[in-house]
Amino acid sequence: TPNRSLGQHFLLHPDQARRLVAALELRGQEVVVEIGAGLGALTYFLAESGGRVIALELDRRLIPILTTEVLPGFSNVMVVSQDALKFDYLALSREEGQSLTVAGNLPYQITSPLLFKLMGVKTAIRIMLFMVQQEVGLRLMAQPGGKDYGILSVLIQYHFHLRRLFLLKPSNFYPAPKVDSVVLGFRPRLPEPSAINEDFLAQVVKAAFSTRRKTLRNTLTAQSSLLRASPAVILAILHDLRIDPGRRAETLSVDDFVRLSNRLAEKTGKPY
Ligand code: SAM
Repeated sequence: TPNRSLGQHFLLHPDQARRLVAALELRGQEVVVEIGAGLGALTYFLAESGGRVIALELDRRLIPILTTEVLPGFSNVMVVSQDALKFDYLALSREEGQSLTVAGNLPYQITSPLLFKLMGVKTAIRIMLFMVQQEVGLRLMAQPGGKDYGILSVLIQYHFHLRRLFLLKPSNFYPAPKVDSVVLGFRPRLPEPSAINEDFLAQVVKAAFSTRRKTLRNTLTAQSSLLRASPAVILAILHDLRIDPGRRAETLSVDDFVRLSNRLAEKTGKPY
């Protein structure tokens, strides 16, 4: 029986799994980390591609099924019963001497924390391909100006180039989820884009969105100690950058946030 609290919705049709794996354009040399192998729908095609596959699955009940029924005969696959949120991606990439391919039909509960974690290790990543709930997909791809645009949109788009691949209806899964799913591709934006300090960028974005409906004048000056700048300095920087303090966070582009956090970082002159 599927465990709902682990977000278990298993892909029913091999064609969809094959299609997702094909989008990774694997050549057999890659090291692939799969998030949430489940009953191995994707794992099978990843294994077939010939590269090394590290399949993470938190639910121990599924491990023997995976190893003895789905994947016997594949010596290139290692099934690991571990939490994807705790896995050391940097260490694996270092050991293997190459950047990682990360893929999965993500359990809904861990989607945001996992994406935030992977932003922090993007130097160890070649490409990622994830199936997520449609509404999360909309937030990830959102452009400034709408209700979907927020902290996750700004930071993911700062760290990765995103591409929307295809949509899957609930009927493709057992048990059927309530909403559509979408498959998205992510490529790290390397070399580093332009933020002086990425942790500080994240703080500025979070501060700006802390009260979504208020103006930047209100949200940013209220967080003046966190931003390490006085309200007067914050307003002067906004003025310099020609960002109207009467605007709300959701109207700022990723680039606006980068410029704002860089100016704040320069102004206080402290290394963070
Ligand atoms: N890949 C399979 C498929 O497409 O049919 C299963 C996808 S299912 C949406 C997500 C899987 O992730 C479940 O098997 C669940 O047990 C597993 N899972 C949940 N939380 C996890 C975590 N923190 N780390 C690793 N796996 C997790």
